[in-house]
Amino acid sequence: GEFSQDVDVMVIGAGPGGYVAAIHAAMLGKQVTLIEKGELGGVCLNRGCIPSKALIAAAHRHEMIKHSEDIGFSVQGVHINWDKIQTWKQSVVDKLTSGVGSLLKSRKVQILEGEALFVSPNEIRVFKGYEVQRYRFNHCIIATGSRPVELKAFPFGGRILSSTEALSLQEIPKSLVIIGGGYIGVELGQMFAKFGAKVTVLEGAERILLGFDAEMTRWVERRLKKSGIDVYTNAKAKEAIQQDDQVTVTFETGNETKQVTADYLLVTAGRVPNTENLGLDVAGVKVNDRGLIEVDNQCKTNVPGIYAIGDIVPGPALAHKASYEGKIAAEVIAGHPSIVDYKAIPAVVFSDPGMASVGLDENLAKEKGYEVISGKFPYAANGRALSLHDSEGFVKIVAEKERGIVLGAQIVGPEASNLIAELGLAVEMGATLEDLALTIHAHPTLGEMVMEAAEAALGRATHIV
Ligand code: FAD
Repeated sequence: GEFSQDVDVMVIGAGPGGYVAAIHAAMLGKQVTLIEKGELGGVCLNRGCIPSKALIAAAHRHEMIKHSEDIGFSVQGVHINWDKIQTWKQSVVDKLTSGVGSLLKSRKVQILEGEALFVSPNEIRVFKGYEVQRYRFNHCIIATGSRPVELKAFPFGGRILSSTEALSLQEIPKSLVIIGGGYIGVELGQMFAKFGAKVTVLEGAERILLGFDAEMTRWVERRLKKSGIDVYTNAKAKEAIQQDDQVTVTFETGNETKQVTADYLLVTAGRVPNTENLGLDVAGVKVNDRGLIEVDNQCKTNVPGIYAIGDIVPGPALAHKASYEGKIAAEVIAGHPSIVDYKAIPAVVFSDPGMASVGLDENLAKEKGYEVISGKFPYAANGRALSLHDSEGFVKIVAEKERGIVLGAQIVGPEASNLIAELGLAVEMGATLEDLALTIHAHPTLGEMVMEAAEAALGRATHIV
């Protein structure tokens, strides 16, 4: 047969799951080989988290430049150089992906370009053009990630975009219809709206951003509407007809059938795991009916020596969850008794106002049988928020009543994404409301709201009654 090269740890996919796993396994003294068929950094760095956040930041800046009348600016004739914004976005991506390359090299990770396919429970073939190479491994971490769902009625192409094309459009659309009011649809919709596009969001469920507490999403909905974005909930998209340089989308809402015509249709209806063309059946790795690989609390699949992490396993499809699992899998391979603990995975939406949550909200905590106390503090009562002229939202902390152990937190408002970190630590450590309340927070900062929300739960907030 074919000659097989022996490798110790084989990692398939160089996204935030795979490259982090590779670095950590190497740091733990393992010989690591990492296979990637596309670009280092995976979806997150190349067509997900990073480019989207760069464009969102640029859009926010544009809006701030144009609309600071309230605090004494009047600005005329703001020129948007879209090519330059795209170039800048790409430069951010390139810096990070080349950084990942250098890190892997410094850790002596062998990088292979090509597509991996299992040919047995401990062997893969790697295809690169017409070249094929065979490898036998002791351990393998599968981290092949996910791709956008393609809906039958709305195949990608022409005027119908996935998030990937939307992040690299040659022009700012004058109008845009989005199917799917999840975080990707809302983030990208708001970004284009801030650059002047007329945006329509079609959401099938009763409200947008369904994974989050309605108490939080209400603030985002209100802002979307105020900024002229049309949001249809309980809306069923039926068909899209492309003609000339436009696309017309037909949808049902209530008992009505409506149509909206726009430059582009963006479909953000979820993600599919990349598990079907990997030869998993040949390796014997079980996949569930959603195409996800079931794993235990050490990221182990049903096949000894094969692990799976990131978007291809159940749980939230988020970069930091993929990286976390990558570290655990690396430690388990190195013989450590590590297990995953998901009680403190933050979830963030880079909307405006931003949203972030960690741990349990009040309803979930009650469902789990906790007696709950909570404290809430509004941005409107925080000096820093007011001086930033951005003071809509709240910080809420949920704790168990008897000892005040922090169970979770929800934040809507500016810098929610950064503020949630302290609360993630609190949940992870089993910190109490007293711990947060007695931590001296610098003044004037948004972080003071965390202290005050904890104080509010204890019935002694300084700046609210
Ligand atoms: P991926 O990043 O998908 O990487 C998998 C890699 O495996 C790819 O590079 C692929 O080419 C490679 N591969 C696949 N099959 C093979 C094969 N057979 N052989 C070799 N290589 C293979 N998450 C957040 O946490 N925060 C955010 O703000 C955020 N924003 C997002 C915005 C957008 C628009 C999108 C689309 C996603 C966003 N995400 C965000 C989600 C995040 O990108 C994913 O959760 C994350 O990338 C998953 O990491 P992963 O390592 O599992 O897989």
